[in-house]
Amino acid sequence: TLTSKTAVVTGSTSGIGLAIARGLAKDGANIVLNGFGQPEDIERERAAIEAEFGVKARYSGADMSKPDEIAGMIAEAETAFGAVDVLVNNAGIQFVSPIEEFPVGKWDQIIAINLSSAFHAMRAAIPGMKRQGWGRIINTASAHSLVASPFKAAYVAAKHGIAGLTKTAALELATHKITVNCISPGYVWTPLVESQIPDTMKARGLTKEQVINDVLLQAQPTKEFVTVDQVAAIAVFLCSDAASQITGANISVDGGWTAQ
Ligand code: NAD
Repeated sequence: TLTSKTAVVTGSTSGIGLAIARGLAKDGANIVLNGFGQPEDIERERAAIEAEFGVKARYSGADMSKPDEIAGMIAEAETAFGAVDVLVNNAGIQFVSPIEEFPVGKWDQIIAINLSSAFHAMRAAIPGMKRQGWGRIINTASAHSLVASPFKAAYVAAKHGIAGLTKTAALELATHKITVNCISPGYVWTPLVESQIPDTMKARGLTKEQVINDVLLQAQPTKEFVTVDQVAAIAVFLCSDAASQITGANISVDGGWTAQ
């Protein structure tokens, strides 16, 4: 179990990150939540983790597009809990547009949040993990780290980048008992997926039902959305001793999407 260990989960005020944070807390880890949202909603989730799982949970409002704030989040966690044993780089955003109309600022923001933030957080957390001789780094990639879809240029580029960064870090840290893996979900029903439906309707000229059935679930042979708890279960497993020889892997949970 992760009792007396500490996990920092970026983008954990919602969706997959929140499920991963709760899964790691259930396994005994103290948690640093991160992400945006209404202060009262975040406080409710933080307090619920402490009450339900008997661990300590803190919140960092660090913006994953700001390298200084990312380093500050890791330093704060180390000061508060003594170490960062598990780092989950999960924060991510989406934007759907043809390349020639893709706003330059959106490209930069997606590369910063979905890719560079993982580099900055790893850079800050690895020295502590090396000192203690144990660590787990888990990056939330995507089926879009393996295959592409049109109109998601920045997202697909960032996620392919995360897959490469994961492999590189795994090799660098292989003899330090620090594993580095990514999880690649297909479509998971979260606010991120729900909120891209209007833009996909516009970009492809489709109704909401057509986007759900003909675009989203069309890619997924099981015709079912992945659940956030199914993603969280993989993260918990990757932190276990049973997974100590799994490193540099890209683990798909996509209903068969990337088998096609
Ligand atoms: P979500 O929108 O529910 O959650 C995203 C989280 O990131 C939120 O907590 C949000 O506050 C946080 N966030 C956004 N910008 C941030 C910033 N600048 N700094 C700090 N936090 C920030 O989305 P989700 O679906 O749970 O996505 C989580 C991860 O899973 C993302 O990396 C996403 O690309 C990936 N993913 C999602 C799906 C899916 O179908 N939902 C599929 C594959 C991969």
